[in-house]
Amino acid sequence: MSETNSWELAAAPESTDHVKIESEYGLFIDGEFVESESDEKFDSINPATEKPLASLTEANPADVDRAVKAAQTAYSKTWSKMPGKERGKYIFRIARLIQERARELAVLETLDGGKPIRESRDIDIPLAAAHFFYHAGWADKLNYAFPNRNPKPLGVVGQVIPWNFPLLMAAWKIAPALAAGNTVVLKPAETTSLTAMKLAEIFQQAELPPGVVNFVTGHGAVGEALVNHKNVDKIAFTGSTAVGKQIQKSLAGTNKRLTLELGGKAANIVFEDATIDQAVEGIVDGIYFNQGHVCCAGSRLLVQESVHDQVIQKLKHRMNSLIVGDPLDKNTDVGAINSAKQLKTIESYIEIGKQEGADFYQPDSNVPEQGYWCRPSLFTQVAQSNRIAQEEIFGPVLTVQTFRTVAEVIKKANNTPYGLSAGVWTDKGSKIFNMTAQMKAGVVWANTFNKFDPVSPFGGYKESGLGREGGLHGLAAYLDIS
Ligand code: NAP
Ligand code: MG
Repeated sequence: MSETNSWELAAAPESTDHVKIESEYGLFIDGEFVESESDEKFDSINPATEKPLASLTEANPADVDRAVKAAQTAYSKTWSKMPGKERGKYIFRIARLIQERARELAVLETLDGGKPIRESRDIDIPLAAAHFFYHAGWADKLNYAFPNRNPKPLGVVGQVIPWNFPLLMAAWKIAPALAAGNTVVLKPAETTSLTAMKLAEIFQQAELPPGVVNFVTGHGAVGEALVNHKNVDKIAFTGSTAVGKQIQKSLAGTNKRLTLELGGKAANIVFEDATIDQAVEGIVDGIYFNQGHVCCAGSRLLVQESVHDQVIQKLKHRMNSLIVGDPLDKNTDVGAINSAKQLKTIESYIEIGKQEGADFYQPDSNVPEQGYWCRPSLFTQVAQSNRIAQEEIFGPVLTVQTFRTVAEVIKKANNTPYGLSAGVWTDKGSKIFNMTAQMKAGVVWANTFNKFDPVSPFGGYKESGLGREGGLHGLAAYLDIS
């Protein structure tokens, strides 16, 4: 099998003509874009070119307070009083507008965050719309969802989200909050706020009552001010375990509800009876597409010893055919790393892995000169105690370990501080059920990877989080169910 890429595809860039980006965005408070009291701005850049796309407003604590007040007023005067049937119509309208503007949103997501257009077009945006559609349906059926439990909204919800699925995370958090009758103040990640600004435009277009959803942009301190605001009734956070722990500490002793979706170090397990070609494609999907910027990425490959050499040979061959580069190109498999800071983190882990003595492999794919890039990376001969096998890297870096028995692989899979997701590749249904019952992971995919649906609850064990999002479990987290 040749190790070189025999396919040369002509460039197929998605057009950006239909995307209108303002040069400056204010904060979205009470249905309008408004100036901050501080006048501080920061640039959102395109990580594939390092060029600025727009200037955003850094909120200060007074702005956060303004946003919370707007949400409180909207809650008590409008949203919590509105019949569920009416709330559902707004949520449904938002879902339809996301669909109508899908191309614009997909291109903007790719420009601002660096992910391949194929991912934002086929995954992020359709799923964002799906979350609004799904929850629109529940808005007037809460009493059926939770019979005899008298579900009531909580009040103002503070939400903080990361940069890896900007619009999807916003949808994932806002849709259930609104369906339940809460109002929202959300802080997007500082490197990827632009699709939230478009979503604000969509809320205006949908004539969502002012103050029902507010966006405060800025750095970590804005998130901290929101989390600690005394009039916020629930916090929903997605991000790193370190910040999640800090939030949990600062909320201890308050009446605020809390859900946390944190990091992961998923085991992707390949048994000797698996369909190997299909498994290899699932491994690639699990860690290399989307640059490994996925909390549930299959970052630890555990492969049965008897098929190790075959799997690694096929995997290297496939890695050589991956196209790294322009995220707007429809052929691109691996886009830009989201920020210079994240690239530095990934590169430092690659150094650590080499020092720990694991064998390193990277195809010599061409990458553009400008921008932040990391070729798909593979470490074989990895020991369970190696830092690269224990810590979340959040980049296109896969570690490989082997196993002989089911008992051994379960032990290895569970031997991390995390427990968000896992994958199992085997021909035997009984083996799948045995594995899923014993693995401490919130999601276990069988003969597939990275599949999501708003109907299905998502969340982690151990340091991967607290509570569930999606499905009825996720909806319950936005309700007082007596
Ligand atoms: P992060 O540093 O924890 O940031 C997440 C969000 O929190 C950002 O909006 C960030 O603002 C904000 N923030 C930072 N410090 C804060 C503080 N002290 N109080 C309140 N908010 C604060 O995480 P990240 O490194 O950007 O994102 C990657 C991490 O998210 C990974 O660990 C990944 O596993 C996890 N993640 C988990 C899931 C899941 O569903 N379980 C999904 C996606 C990502 P800035 O933007 O200014 O930093
Ligand atoms: Mg950006």
